Amino acid sequence: DGDWPRPPKTRVICICNQKGGVGKTTSAVNLAAALSMHGLRVLVVDLDPQGNASTALATEHRAGTPSIYQVLVEDLPMESIVTQVPDMPGLFCAPATLDLAGAEIELVPMVGRETRLRRAFAAYESAQMDYILIDCPPSLGLLTVNALAAAQEVLIPIQCEYYALEGLTQLLQNVELVRVHLNQTLNVSTILLTMYDGRTRLASQVAEEVRSHFGATVVDAVIPRSVRVSEAPSYGQSVMTYDPGSSGAMAYMDAAREIAYRGAAVAEA
Ligand code: ADP
Ligand code: MG
Repeated sequence: DGDWPRPPKTRVICICNQKGGVGKTTSAVNLAAALSMHGLRVLVVDLDPQGNASTALATEHRAGTPSIYQVLVEDLPMESIVTQVPDMPGLFCAPATLDLAGAEIELVPMVGRETRLRRAFAAYESAQMDYILIDCPPSLGLLTVNALAAAQEVLIPIQCEYYALEGLTQLLQNVELVRVHLNQTLNVSTILLTMYDGRTRLASQVAEEVRSHFGATVVDAVIPRSVRVSEAPSYGQSVMTYDPGSSGAMAYMDAAREIAYRGAAVAEA
């Protein structure tokens, strides 16, 4: 298929779950790549000090690299840190360096500490991104609050495993707090089932339970557990370019298409 619909204004989507290892980074990178391959301009903001999204997007993030840390803490403009992802026209990355770990503490005494990312985005209109996907760290601290305050939408990846729903209540409460106090337009628009292993009954039970709780918010496409998905980042590639025919690549492509067309429907409504 050709180009996907361009949203009327930048869709800022916060990819969030305080649990580690549920597929936040993998989803951010692969959904972003899929959208960019269909004519859209997409920025991935790496908000995890580990910098896994930066690595997966082959974006420099050694100590000393201008990064989202300086944007948050030193008011550096987004323009000075955003770089084009190699060989991926339309795909951009705002990298994270390890010093971002300190930002959780350094932000505490600052004025407007919860809305520093939003301010940085507001000053960044010139770049005309269609999508900004924020890859959150595995916590509900100030970095995640900044992401939630800067977004219109929350995307929650849920791993089809034991304890999948554990912590979800707390996450939704935090989203609600941010909505009430900082960002009235925030909504949980998307839930994505990840690492689905079709051979286990557990995976299908978890998927069923999530769908019965969250209904249409859950993306139809389910991301399978696939070695190709986990291999791609070590080559600095998305799974879409690393192995386009793999089940993981096709699932992320389907999920991204759904997200793009749903956004268009929301915009028309
Ligand atoms: P998070 O950002 O939530 O901590 P990651 O996206 O880094 O989670 O995923 C955790 C680990 O699981 C990584 O090693 C990643 O490569 C692997 N992984 C993620 N999604 C899949 C998948 N669909 N199939 C196989 N491995 C996956
Ligand atoms: Mg991650």
